Amino acid sequence: MRASPSYVVSSFRRTVIRRTAATVAVVVVASAAAIAIQLVSVSDEIAIGKQAQAEIRRKTPELNDSMVRDYVSRIGRQLAAHARGAKYPYSFSVANYREINAFALPGGPVWVNRGAIQAAGNEAQLAAVLAHEVAHVAQRHSAQQLSNAMVTNLGLNLLGALLGNSGGATAASIAARYVASGAFLKFSRDDEREADRVGAQILSRSGWDPRGMIELLQTIREQEKRDPSSVEVFLSDHPSSAERIARLQQAIPRGTGKRDSAQFQSVRARLRSLPPARSMK
Ligand SMILES: [Zn+2]
Repeated sequence: MRASPSYVVSSFRRTVIRRTAATVAVVVVASAAAIAIQLVSVSDEIAIGKQAQAEIRRKTPELNDSMVRDYVSRIGRQLAAHARGAKYPYSFSVANYREINAFALPGGPVWVNRGAIQAAGNEAQLAAVLAHEVAHVAQRHSAQQLSNAMVTNLGLNLLGALLGNSGGATAASIAARYVASGAFLKFSRDDEREADRVGAQILSRSGWDPRGMIELLQTIREQEKRDPSSVEVFLSDHPSSAERIARLQQAIPRGTGKRDSAQFQSVRARLRSLPPARSMK
């Protein structure tokens, strides 16, 4: 059998389940120091993500406009179809916030703020925001973050509970802590760089001009000068826009692909006609 990551995880889990909690503690802590261990299976990740999505929905004003919602979902689904890795149940929701931001939850739910749609100058730039988030999911950044958190923050009781029982109550309690910690807004800088690089590939495979990703970052830099509060959340845990642009300029070949559409321009006109978005503060 190939030593694929899923094989490693499942054999690791079988081993762990046979041991006592005390032994688990030693094994996990000792191993985590040396290598990154993926403790969260794809199905656990999806279960946690579903619960986290329910939490986020309770707290977030969703933009209730079927034209905008359907359009964003259509772009998102096209990108998700070109993502590699596990087939996650991706979903795409629009938060009625003015700030430029987007985030991904474990196992597929993606949110984009209305402010990010309104900041994008063309469809490729909006698709770039979503492609970056799809890449976080496809590369399993949240699953890795959850694995790390189980070892360092959440405690081993929770780890034992997850490994011994993938039932709904456990997923809900992990999801509640995950959302409360704001972890979904804080990936490592390396994960952000990978999401840019893999996101640009997804964007290109899905038929859009990958330079949309560079252009969007340039827009964010300009916005930073004009209205710093509107990009504060987005920039707080990311590498600088200048660094991201420089890296992408190296990685992205001369772009070809779709740049804009009449639907994108209709969606922007529609958003301008709606009552203004709320602030996240
Ligand atoms: Zn990111």
